Amino acid sequence: MTYLITGGAGYIGAHVVRAMTQAGERAVVLDDLSTGERDRVPAEVPFVHGSTLDRPLLDRLIREHGVTGVVHLAAKKQVGESVEQPLHYYRENVEGLRVLLEAVVDGGVRQFVFSSSAAVYGMPDVELVTEETPCLPMSPYGETKLAGEWLVRAVGRAHGVATSCLRYFNVAGTAEPELADTGVFNLVPMVFEKLTERRAPLIFGDDYATPDGTCVRDYIHVEDLADAHLAAARRLTEASETGENPDLTLNIGRGEGVSVREMVELIGEITGHHALAPTVTARRPGDPARVVASADLVSKELGWQARHDVRAMITSAWAGWCRRHPEAVAERG
Ligand code: UDP
Repeated sequence: MTYLITGGAGYIGAHVVRAMTQAGERAVVLDDLSTGERDRVPAEVPFVHGSTLDRPLLDRLIREHGVTGVVHLAAKKQVGESVEQPLHYYRENVEGLRVLLEAVVDGGVRQFVFSSSAAVYGMPDVELVTEETPCLPMSPYGETKLAGEWLVRAVGRAHGVATSCLRYFNVAGTAEPELADTGVFNLVPMVFEKLTERRAPLIFGDDYATPDGTCVRDYIHVEDLADAHLAAARRLTEASETGENPDLTLNIGRGEGVSVREMVELIGEITGHHALAPTVTARRPGDPARVVASADLVSKELGWQARHDVRAMITSAWAGWCRRHPEAVAERG
């Protein structure tokens, strides 16, 4: 098997490249480097700089590298930005996927793993979100992921491509400091940034209907998430040998809720910055109170289960952060 990994120079993509190549799979990375970094991709993995909107490039790449499967992660992923730039998000995330799928079908590629998101659920009003929970995305970003799933499933059924859509919950941590997330758009790096500036971390609202009033999320270590891609790819390989299409749509989470306050306190403890108590500010518009996965289906279908806890996520993410921000390290007295 040779996998085309789009977005393989990004935070999650680079972890997928790492997991798949360490497991002995061949990979080629396509990335437009809009947010990715070239040096996240190991030198021995072929790297192509470009976009999934570039059909001639895709055709060439699939032919020249003998691509047999695709893991498609290249996408824009900021909720707020998607509200301001919906056309850009639909172009990159939906049109970019459509063009890629055309090249997949015409190039005879038989396997496709699609990077989706818990954002497809919007504001789920359930204790544990299952794959049957209705999808009501609350942002153009979530809409592009849901529309992407529809397209992937339809193409899989119509053209005999084995497919799997993976709905990521809240991703954190890193396998190596060099592969850490460089964006400051999520809770963990946003708290790290405040602590680095010796300022109080912010909690966006503590009047939600949750045990401590702050939002509850399901955090998943990026290394576990990457292993889920490998497990999905292997499952699709088995399936394509028999001509079956597993047509899987799976939550990738731990099935365990952690509140924002719990996260902020744990981050304070692990980083040594516990003296900086958090400040509670107004709710952030559009935040659901609780989004926690049921991880039963993925465990049944792929035999996959998360191995790392929240402490491991924060510890590894902090090592990555301190590599770029040496001034962040707390003076321990
Ligand atoms: N959050 C917070 N303070 C911050 C950053 C995030 O209280 O500095 C909260 C945010 O309101 C949400 C949770 O942390 O309830 C997770 O936010 P994130 O953006 O990481 O992921 P989301 O679940 O929104 O995709």
